[in-house]
Amino acid sequence: MNEFNAIEKYFRKLTMGRPEALELLDDAAALTIPEGHELLISSDTLNAGTHFLENATAKEIAHKALRVNLSDMAAMGAKPYAYQLCIAFPEKPSEQWLESFTDALLLDQKEFGVFCSGGDTTSIKGALSISITMMGTAPKGKSIKRSGGQDGDALLLSGVIGDAFLGLKALRGELDNCFNASVINAYTRPTPRLDLIELLQAHANAAIDISDGLVADLNHLCMTSKCTTDLRISDSLFSKSANKLIDTGAITAENLITGGDDYQLIIAVPQEKKHLFLDLKIPCIEIGKLKKGSGAVQILNQAGSSLNLKQTGWSHF
Ligand code: ADP
Ligand code: MG
Repeated sequence: MNEFNAIEKYFRKLTMGRPEALELLDDAAALTIPEGHELLISSDTLNAGTHFLENATAKEIAHKALRVNLSDMAAMGAKPYAYQLCIAFPEKPSEQWLESFTDALLLDQKEFGVFCSGGDTTSIKGALSISITMMGTAPKGKSIKRSGGQDGDALLLSGVIGDAFLGLKALRGELDNCFNASVINAYTRPTPRLDLIELLQAHANAAIDISDGLVADLNHLCMTSKCTTDLRISDSLFSKSANKLIDTGAITAENLITGGDDYQLIIAVPQEKKHLFLDLKIPCIEIGKLKKGSGAVQILNQAGSSLNLKQTGWSHF
């Protein structure tokens, strides 16, 4: 099997027969944006050993690669449309790997309403690398930026954080008392919060998805919005299993607020709109209030005194 057979046999099905993909027979895809809409586009690369463990399965890699890219669309309040898939293989992939990888992508495509419009398949002297460029649409002017946060806005978190950090620790064998399927699932199959895009478009001033860590990404939102905030550590930020582990001393709350891979959203909304997010079936969690100003987010411990963190989150350099 060569590259072209692989495209025909495994990647073509990802187009789901959409005419825009031109059956992967052309040099480019031909996409059309609906009248009155803008195109949101974002790329995320996953490298073996950095973004997923070297022994990750094809299925796990596929789910993670697509979902982290969909999460960027959720953060922008954009409806996913199509994506480009670029893969660099260190060695010829087995048909079993390709089948399992593309079947997993197809499953998520159906769940989240997106198709593959093309990509690139190459070889690399290095580790397996998967790069996805995701495209989504939003009515013109309705997409959400990190920079839109206003003085006095309520800061909300779309769900508890820290389970993905625990999942990675569990996969590495560093959490012997908590080899817990749900935390591993949080790490390998994050849920992009696309269920929130209509609410975001209608009411949010700013949003960001948490890939690097709660503190790091809250800092990003505050900086671009020219605002600051206090973040007080509380049990409500974490899942039951995470709180249990904090109680036993196996991990600290600081680990969880600076660990990455959560893919929940931080949302800034006017105070009078926050109830719409706090009354959801899966309710958002109120974590603070934006105030005009510059400077890093101030972290407070449970007792309310200021904490100095060694690091705020993940950084490649
Ligand atoms: P070119 O030589 O013009 O770069 P390629 O041979 O790389 O074209 O690709 C042929 C077609 O297959 C293109 O339509 C491209 O979008 C598609 N394609 C290649 N690799 C992938 C992939 N990994 N996933 C989806 N489509 C792919
Ligand atoms: Mg090419």
